[in-house]
Amino acid sequence: MAKIGFIGLGNMGGPMALNLLKKDHKLKVFDLSKEAMQKLEAQGARRAGSAADAATDVEAVITMLPAGRHVRAVYLGELSILKAASSGTLFMDCSTIDVATARAVAAAAEKAGFAMVDAPVSGGVAAAEAGTLTFMVGGTDDAFERARPVLEHMGQKIIHAGPSGAGQAAKVCNNMLLGITMIGTCEAFLLADSLGLDRQKLFDIARNASGQNWSLTSYCPVPGPVPTSPANRDYKPGFTVAMMLKDLKLAQDAAQENGALTPLGAKAKTIYEAFDEAGQSGLDFSGIFKMLEQNARKSDEE
Ligand code: NAD
Repeated sequence: MAKIGFIGLGNMGGPMALNLLKKDHKLKVFDLSKEAMQKLEAQGARRAGSAADAATDVEAVITMLPAGRHVRAVYLGELSILKAASSGTLFMDCSTIDVATARAVAAAAEKAGFAMVDAPVSGGVAAAEAGTLTFMVGGTDDAFERARPVLEHMGQKIIHAGPSGAGQAAKVCNNMLLGITMIGTCEAFLLADSLGLDRQKLFDIARNASGQNWSLTSYCPVPGPVPTSPANRDYKPGFTVAMMLKDLKLAQDAAQENGALTPLGAKAKTIYEAFDEAGQSGLDFSGIFKMLEQNARKSDEE
């Protein structure tokens, strides 16, 4: 079992760290929130005084932070964890961030003599708690093989996506697709409503036909067909509109920087922006059905 520094104990990092403790790893934890640290301390983790302290005298460091600027601050700031770590420490950043930051941070780690992987996750809070996350990993073969046994204690599928930044690239492509399929699935239900087709019938048919997709079968945006989906609890998250919007923005930034044409990704971002601006950022992202349904009603009245 390894000595691990864990930085960022929020909705995702908290349960991920807990799963490592359950597998008998020794954890030094740090978060800006004392409350978040106390929860882990109560389960046997050691509380660190700073991010740099969490990275001192450990074999591996995991970061699970909100966005690229937090990752840059922790890795490249004045009190960089790269300056505090002992030689041989492996760094794993599991946050969802832009590819450019992931590559810059990994390059700085390499320059300082450390191996590093970007390892963003898919699966959300429930999967973080259950230890069933999917990790998309970017880094060298050697760094991936070193990271794998630790990641396996927090996830079910650990996939090597390619060199540094490839994990974030896979994450941003996947989540752009998710945003698009969610909107498309909502539109199919609204068209069914307008045609007088029963929603459950559409669900039963599309799940067995070529319209089948995860947003329909696992996360259905209308109440009824999938009892566990947020639509059945008034769109309580889950995965918030703010998080989907963050990922759609990352996708558009990446598309622009790299000259990729993604008109549906751009449209999905505009639609989620409008929902966010309507004060719905804390709702589950499948709640976009409510806005699209309202728009459909308004256009009927006109
Ligand atoms: P969160 O906001 O709940 O947690 C982030 C934590 O980081 C907070 O506790 C915050 O105090 C801490 N933090 C911020 N700056 C820090 C610093 N400098 N040093 C130490 N701690 C610091 O976010 P989350 O939901 O846990 O998400 C974390 C990452 O995982 C994000 O990049 C998110 O996009 C990604 N993600 C989230 C989900 C989800 O469903 N929540 C799913 C997949 C991926």
